[in-house]
Amino acid sequence: MPFRPRYTGLIERYRDRLPVSADTKIISLGEGNTPLLKLNNIPKHIGKNVEIYVKYEGLNPTGSFKDRGMTMAVTKAVEAGSKAIICASTGNTSAAAAAYAARAGITAFVLIPDGKIALGKLAQAMMHDAVVIQIKGNFDEGMQLVKDVAEHAPVTIVNSINPYRLQGQKTAAFEIVEELGRAPDYHCLPVGNAGNITAHWIGYSEYASKCGDHVTDACALCHGECKFTKDAVISSRPKMVGYQAAGSAPFMRGEMVDNPETVATAIRIGHPQSWDMAWKVKEESEGWFDECDDDTILAAQKLLAEKEGIFCEPASATSLAGAIRDIQSGKIPEGSVVVCTLTGHGLKDPDIAIKQSSSPLITVDANLDAVRDAILGNLAK
Ligand SMILES: *Cc1c(COP(=O)(O)O)cnc(C)c1O
Repeated sequence: MPFRPRYTGLIERYRDRLPVSADTKIISLGEGNTPLLKLNNIPKHIGKNVEIYVKYEGLNPTGSFKDRGMTMAVTKAVEAGSKAIICASTGNTSAAAAAYAARAGITAFVLIPDGKIALGKLAQAMMHDAVVIQIKGNFDEGMQLVKDVAEHAPVTIVNSINPYRLQGQKTAAFEIVEELGRAPDYHCLPVGNAGNITAHWIGYSEYASKCGDHVTDACALCHGECKFTKDAVISSRPKMVGYQAAGSAPFMRGEMVDNPETVATAIRIGHPQSWDMAWKVKEESEGWFDECDDDTILAAQKLLAEKEGIFCEPASATSLAGAIRDIQSGKIPEGSVVVCTLTGHGLKDPDIAIKQSSSPLITVDANLDAVRDAILGNLAK
């Protein structure tokens, strides 16, 4: 049998483009290297000639892209001697923080909005033995509390304001470029704090070897750690398109939103932490922001599950929901290569999935006739 080296995570893979040294002890759960799946049925279903790829980030170790950032953030926290990390979270950051802290043997404190996180995510934080602090408030209030308390306690913040988070997350853009052999024309993402859209832009920009005049703020964010000086790998960068949930769309309102509401709890954020950077990404990439209402988001989640066999969580489907609408309207023209990031796994939020499922649960007697009738009656479905 031919020998293939064991995949040991994105820091090892992109070591020369990340702020680590030969002595850095790497905290990894094998994150990254996620599938870039080409949609076969949805382009036909909407009758448009486009190549749509989904980057299935739900297949990271804790089920979301947050692992890409967390491997870097926790690796650097441990390197700096930190014994505890803290984050505010709509769920996935806390799941990732809890898991990587467990792996590193340090403590994770997570602040979550009381009753507003998907059950799977809460289970993860509890299972990995994080100290879970539910606050009677939303994510934005939790984020402010985390910033305040970190000034009074020996804890490292691992939200995306930690510059190492974006450094880890930029690797998703590298993987996409390597598999496509080019950058896509459009890259669509759900936007909450806008860290991920920023991180992808850093990644594409780094591969295009554009710095200084292009992503000045990003360079400030990464403390000059970006490795922009290498030769360009790609000649063009995608237009970055950020979709928000309509009830939680500060980028559409042009100002912070105080009481964000959406079924897509992972992007239920009214005060995005990467506000300035995300505007810059939009301008530099000549992309745009738009919003989708909850029904449109859930319809896209279901369409993807039914037509392609891919299960993502509601927030993730926002990227596809928006992309489909912009493809149908022609804003994204036919012939385009489009990548949609599916940020988290559908199993995170089974409640929402079951509530909106139309597949009949058929209960019959435990005998051959009853089961055969149930099958024959549903064959044409
Ligand atoms: C965190 C998260 C987002 C939003 O990412 P930002 O970097 O905050 O914009 C979207 N979807 C899921 C599933 C997430 O966990």
